[in-house]
Amino acid sequence: MKIGIIGGGASAIYCALLIKKRHPQYTVEIFEKEKKVAKKLNATGNGHCNLLNRSISGSAFNNPKYIDKLLSKYDYEYLKSTIESFGQVLKEEGELIYPQSYNAPAYNDFLQMQMKRNGVVVHLDSFVADFCPIDDKLKIIFKDNSSILFDKIVFACGGKSQANLGSDGKLTGIFKKRGVEFNEYRPGLTPLQIKEKDITKKLDGYRHHSVVSIINNEGKLVYKEEGEVLFRDYGLSGIVIFNISTVLSRLNLINPTISLDLFPEYSKEELEKNLIKSRDLLGDQYLLSLFPSNVVDLVKSMNLKKPYEVADLLKNFKFSAPKALGFDKSQVSLGGIKLSVLNDDLSWKKDNRVFFIGEMVDIDGLCGGFNLSWALISALVVADNI
Ligand SMILES: Cc1cc2nc3c(=O)[nH]c(=O)nc-3n(C[C@H](O)[C@H](O)[C@H](O)COP(=O)(O)OP(=O)(O)OC[C@H]3O[C@@H](n4cnc5c(N)ncnc54)[C@H](O)[C@@H]3O)c2cc1C
Repeated sequence: MKIGIIGGGASAIYCALLIKKRHPQYTVEIFEKEKKVAKKLNATGNGHCNLLNRSISGSAFNNPKYIDKLLSKYDYEYLKSTIESFGQVLKEEGELIYPQSYNAPAYNDFLQMQMKRNGVVVHLDSFVADFCPIDDKLKIIFKDNSSILFDKIVFACGGKSQANLGSDGKLTGIFKKRGVEFNEYRPGLTPLQIKEKDITKKLDGYRHHSVVSIINNEGKLVYKEEGEVLFRDYGLSGIVIFNISTVLSRLNLINPTISLDLFPEYSKEELEKNLIKSRDLLGDQYLLSLFPSNVVDLVKSMNLKKPYEVADLLKNFKFSAPKALGFDKSQVSLGGIKLSVLNDDLSWKKDNRVFFIGEMVDIDGLCGGFNLSWALISALVVADNI
């Protein structure tokens, strides 16, 4: 059996290694358009590569039911032992799992070493431009019009986020031509632009632990998450905001508002009491006991005279018109090949010798190792069924 894998990111590498483990006699060849494999992997987890999450569940994904079904077979322990079976030692940091080296490029080198050892053939600088069936084979066609025949092919070309790291979504044109239905890509896990830029501009670079809520246009809370918010000149950033951007895109609300509770540990009344206490002790400058001077100046400029007004602001700091930044700032692409056109083994319903895995499929997860987990789960599904 001769298998061609198009794309050389995490999902492709996992898939190649897993197929070789199950079927050492198969020929497995990876075709990567860049001069290096898995450029994106090197940038993951702030250079540390957050591989897995101990608390993985469907709720972190856009399609919880689908993922929960897969997790009943490929649960956290299974995923962990799969990576360990490659020979990689893992390191735990709370819920988050990293390679022991805590170094993404080192993990990339490790995977490449394993591919070499296991006889996976890697072709670099190989831009796949099309594919078509030829009798009982599948032909993949390169940019220069050369072609190779395979028994089965696996597309693992990623989405459209951070095209400088490889995946650019260009194959979607081919998929349209060949009738592979997909949902258009949208940027996910991004910072947010907001209308009140003049406010966040004054706080540029300031980080504050907050509960971030999404409020719909009827004033109802629809989602909340706690984490560190980074104020930027264009709006808001930080991991919690990346997740909020994805949830906003999934919910597709009309005129949502983002509300920050800067002091989730206190009720509004407790905060007000504390502010009064500080004011009595410190006078006019009491806010300096809570914030750096640029935040104090901002609060002062809002002309909030009474501590209860200040408490109100700090418990419910509102921002409107949140808008995800583009693909160049996004960590994952939402959308992709529709699950409805795929069989359970991720083969295409119109030709079950063609498979799709990783970010190019319409599955995406929040921050916390969920997208690399999907790369592994989808690779396992294919390797177990090909
Ligand atoms: C900055 C950043 C940090 C991240 N951190 C994390 C993290 O810590 N944990 C986590 O779980 N997820 C993280 N992610 C998301 C995660 O990296 C991706 O979801 C995952 O790498 C996707 O793997 P993939 O193999 O499906 O696609 P990709 O890694 O995008 O690989 C696809 C490959 O296909 C190649 N390709 C595309 N088209 C063609 C073609 N026509 N012919 C040949 N080759 C082609 C591309 O060059 C690319 O190398 C992060 C993403 C970014 C951008």
